[in-house]
Formats: sequence, structure tokens, C-alpha cells
Amino acid sequence: MGGRFYIIGNWKMHTTKAEAVALAADVVAKLRSAVEWDPDVVRVGLAPPFPFLEAVGQVIAGKPVELVAQDCHQEPQGAFTGWVSARMLASIGVRRVIVGHSERRQYAREDDALVRAKLEAALEAALGPVVCVGEQLADRDAGRHEQVVERQVRAALEGLSPGAYSQLIVAYEPVWAIGTGRTATPEQAGSMHQFIKGLLASFGTHAANVPVIYGGSVKPNLIDGLVRMPGIDGALVGGASLEAGSFVQIIRGVAAAAASGSGRP
Ligand code: PEP
Repeated sequence: MGGRFYIIGNWKMHTTKAEAVALAADVVAKLRSAVEWDPDVVRVGLAPPFPFLEAVGQVIAGKPVELVAQDCHQEPQGAFTGWVSARMLASIGVRRVIVGHSERRQYAREDDALVRAKLEAALEAALGPVVCVGEQLADRDAGRHEQVVERQVRAALEGLSPGAYSQLIVAYEPVWAIGTGRTATPEQAGSMHQFIKGLLASFGTHAANVPVIYGGSVKPNLIDGLVRMPGIDGALVGGASLEAGSFVQIIRGVAAAAASGSGRP
């Protein structure tokens, strides 16, 4: 088992400022006692809501934890009331940004072209995009899950420069598993991850190395089975990241699986 893993906590529209600061501080404190955790092997990121990015950034300053934003606008600046640009995020110390989350595709009607534009804006601002893809339950039931994910991956990632690929993470998040308590089995997730990796490899050697993480009701008891599957390079964690104990248990689970070296090439 080799390579690097990524665990990113997506806090969505949760917490007040005081709760966000306390949660980040609790994660940092619990990570300090996680002796098995090597931050070079298991990279950790926190994605708090926009208004709390700077406050959380101060808590994690100097710690091996990256500041991640949940979205960005596709333009660097302009008359776009209420939006936040990648350039703004970079200016306050954000390192990565999630684009194309299924909740944005669904509730903000973001389509593949917009996700691509946001990804390019993030790269332009020197942020590493975390690009979410994933099928609806109806797509899986109809057996067209690979077709849907292929369309999303091609639209977002085909034809980028070699340098761009080195900044990217793909998150495979089957929509039916997000916030539902219903997770994909390690076999279902593993099979899709292999499919995505194959697709990325067809874009070139740099794209072949893009990490692919899984998201969808990841809990501490499920992480070991997931990260032992070839092609699963970590997790995007929603609900379980709002509780420092669960989130750090997930990180420890990955660290332990990485250290044991079994079950994964
Ligand atoms: C997510 O928000 O990306 C997510 C995977 O949420 P949850 O873990 O709650 O399903």
C-alpha cells in the first residue's frame, strides 16, 4: 500500500464562528495525540463556511492541515453580488476549493460547463480544485452510472495542462450516498474509482496521477474497508467531519491502513 491519502472535512452550512473555531481547535488537539498519523502520508483539509475561513485558518496556522473552501465563482472579480472569487480565497490563505459538489449542481443548478469554468478559475488563482463527480440513484439503477461520471470527468478535466493535473483532486460522490447514511460498498466505490482512474490515464500521464477520493456517508467504521480498495485515495467527509472525534478517527483509520500496508498495491 503506497502513495498519499487525502481526508477533507466539508462542514457545509453548519457552525457559528465560535463553533467553527472550537471544532478546528478540537481537530488539531486530537490530531496531536494521533501518534500513527503521518501528515505527509495522510493529508488533511478543513472546509468551513466562507465567513469562518480566516478564523479557522488562524487555528490551523503552522499545523499540517490545509484550509479548503466549499465553492468559488468562475470570474476573478466583478459585479457579482454575494459571490466569492477564487482570487479572494487565495488572498486569505485558502489552499484548495471544492467545485461541482452535488448540492451545488442540484440546488444552484451548476452544470458541467460551469464546473469547468470554476475549476479553471481556481487554478488561475493557484488553488487546488477538489472536483466532485457522481451519479444520481436513478442513474445507478438504470446502469448508466459510469456513463454519467464519464461525462462529468471529461467535461471538468479533459485537456488540462500537465501542471494543472498536479494540483487536482477528484472526489467521487454518488449522490444517493451523500448525507443519506447509505454508503457505497467498498466494491462499488472501488470499481468506480478504477473506472475514473482509467479515464484519467487516457488524458495523459500527469492526469493518471490525480488522486481520487470517495465521499458519501463516510463514518469511522467504514473507512478501513474503503481505503483498502485500490484506487481509493482518501475521503471527502460531510456529516462525520462536524464531530472532531469522528473526523480524527477517520484520519487515524486511514493512517493505520496506510501503515499496515496490506490489501492495496
Ligand atoms: C459531502 O458533503 O461531500 C458528503 C460526502 O457528505 P456526507 O459525508 O454527510 O454524506
